[in-house]
Amino acid sequence: MRVKVRCPACRLAHGVSPAPPETACPGCGEAIRLAWTAAVGEDREVDACPACEGRDFYVRKDLNRTLGLVAVVVVGLTSVAFLWARREGLAYGILGAFALVDLVAYALLKLVTVCYRCQAEFRGAYRRTATGFDLHQAESLELEYGRNRATGRGVRSAGSPPR
Ligand SMILES: [Zn+2]
Ligand SMILES: [Zn+2]
Repeated sequence: MRVKVRCPACRLAHGVSPAPPETACPGCGEAIRLAWTAAVGEDREVDACPACEGRDFYVRKDLNRTLGLVAVVVVGLTSVAFLWARREGLAYGILGAFALVDLVAYALLKLVTVCYRCQAEFRGAYRRTATGFDLHQAESLELEYGRNRATGRGVRSAGSPPR
């Protein structure tokens, strides 16, 4: 499994594979403690986040946002150029073809699991157990994460004993 950990200090993300106990942020040098569970270490399931120990995750399609944006801009400009050259047929043809490719690409995309609290991302062959994004849950968990960071306490799930 490959885990993208987001630095709590500067928000820069970097990739880690199991199972170093700590990783240093390449941006600001902040040391990020990692607690790997067996399931995460063996790429079986994402049960607890190694970075924040949270147990709440959601899945989303693993989009490459930059690539997607570049494609949209290129296709948009090309069809505008064809429209400008009064080649409407070509312009709409390109737009239509792009919409189709986009649809197929989206259907083929893999799911990535994301930690609600710290936005760590998990990629691998593991079984996806999380559900889709829930805004209400995200807001309350991010608040809790921010509060716990401010007070220096780790995030514990309900029912787990304090350290
Ligand atoms: Zn950092
Ligand atoms: Zn986390």
